Amino acid sequence: MADLQRLAIASEQIDRQKVVLTIEQQHYLRRVLRLGVGERFIVMDGEGKWWLAKLTPDIFGKTELTAVLEQEILIQNELSIELTLISALPKGNNFDEVVRQSTELGVTHILPVISSRTLLKPSSQKLRRWEKIASEAAEQSERQVVPKIRETVEYSVALSLFENQNFSTNCHKYICVARNNYPLLLDNLLDNQKLESIIIATGPEGGWTNGEIEAAIASGFQAVSLGKRILRAVTAPLVALSLVAAVLERRKA
Ligand code: SAM
Repeated sequence: MADLQRLAIASEQIDRQKVVLTIEQQHYLRRVLRLGVGERFIVMDGEGKWWLAKLTPDIFGKTELTAVLEQEILIQNELSIELTLISALPKGNNFDEVVRQSTELGVTHILPVISSRTLLKPSSQKLRRWEKIASEAAEQSERQVVPKIRETVEYSVALSLFENQNFSTNCHKYICVARNNYPLLLDNLLDNQKLESIIIATGPEGGWTNGEIEAAIASGFQAVSLGKRILRAVTAPLVALSLVAAVLERRKA
């Protein structure tokens, strides 16, 4: 099974035991993965399910090829909780890497935000591009779930979206702040055994403003440190998510 190629599809593409493949997916299976008719691969619906599938000609002729679902595959590769990354958009195309790597690390939701010092205002095609990157990274890293990426919002809107999620719902909200000697994120994670969901916010190249840090704390976020060194805006989310993943995997084991 491990050597089979994987394809993420939308659950609406499934029609009884078949997958109605898009032209792009047919091209990907035939020309990129070099699969022939009759060969098997893994279909993932991005919402938790995997199937063993066989590439088959479409006898109804709606498309050239279809995928027949032969058998559901039971796996559990997901982290045990919901993990949301709120990330101020970094410069250029750097958010592509944040999406790719945070998907590999197990994030379930990604919310790009525009903060006071964000230098980039994303174009409308960016969301589609990030969704594609998340889908490919989920295939590659054998995730069951493709993270949901939300439309970019202003920082204040992001805080308000999570206002009702707090300690009483076993949700922990962290804002990563460089300097100022805040408690370590790792210590906080190790001290809190009852976590059901975690939200982590990381800032842009120029960092958060004091006002943004205060607003987050007022809305229930804990300011935390990732260590003494100043990490780049693209590195900080990966360090924070790696710490969460490591603590959760260890607890499960
Ligand atoms: N220009 C800011 C400064 O000099 O303080 C640094 C900003 S840093 C490049 C970008 C973001 O990464 C920060 O807003 C913070 O969220 C996160 N970050 C970087 N290093 C961190 C650390 N050691 N602890 C916690 N967060 C960190």
